[in-house]
Amino acid sequence: MKLKLATVSLAGCFGCHMSFLDIDERILELVEHVEFDRSPLTDIKRVGECDIGLVEGGLCNAENVEVLRAFRAHCKTLVAVGACAINGGLPAQRNRLPLRPLLEAVYPQGVPDDPELPLLLNHVHPIHEVVHIDYSLPGCPPSADAFWQFLTDLMSGRTPQLGHGLIHYD
Ligand code: SF4
Repeated sequence: MKLKLATVSLAGCFGCHMSFLDIDERILELVEHVEFDRSPLTDIKRVGECDIGLVEGGLCNAENVEVLRAFRAHCKTLVAVGACAINGGLPAQRNRLPLRPLLEAVYPQGVPDDPELPLLLNHVHPIHEVVHIDYSLPGCPPSADAFWQFLTDLMSGRTPQLGHGLIHYD
């Protein structure tokens, strides 16, 4: 039976997803063992019951929090992927500035307030501040080889062990 895998980008840049795709032809082997659920690769909008959830990006708005909670509720194993998910990363650099003056400087003609827009949080948060995380995959982004090692370990029922050269924090 195939494992179900969901992936999402919250307050991130999609760089972690792009690095994941750098596994190149190994994705053919991957899809022999996993079926993708919600992911930018499938365009499924709501996460279903999954074995593994990969979360790129931190939390910068209310929608991010809602999506993260849905991933936690539906994924047996939840993974914080990349610096933004683990510690807020680049988006968290706005945390040293108050939100309102920042928005007014970026939008001098008026801050957009369409009700369709998700409410911004005062600060960008790493995802472990809101839900329990089972594993972290560090890097900005983690390398394709790190993704591959990590996922093949999980698919084989092993605790992921990233050896020398696969863990980095830049
Ligand atoms: Fe982009 Fe780096 Fe954040 Fe991944 S960790 S979403 S590559 S900025």
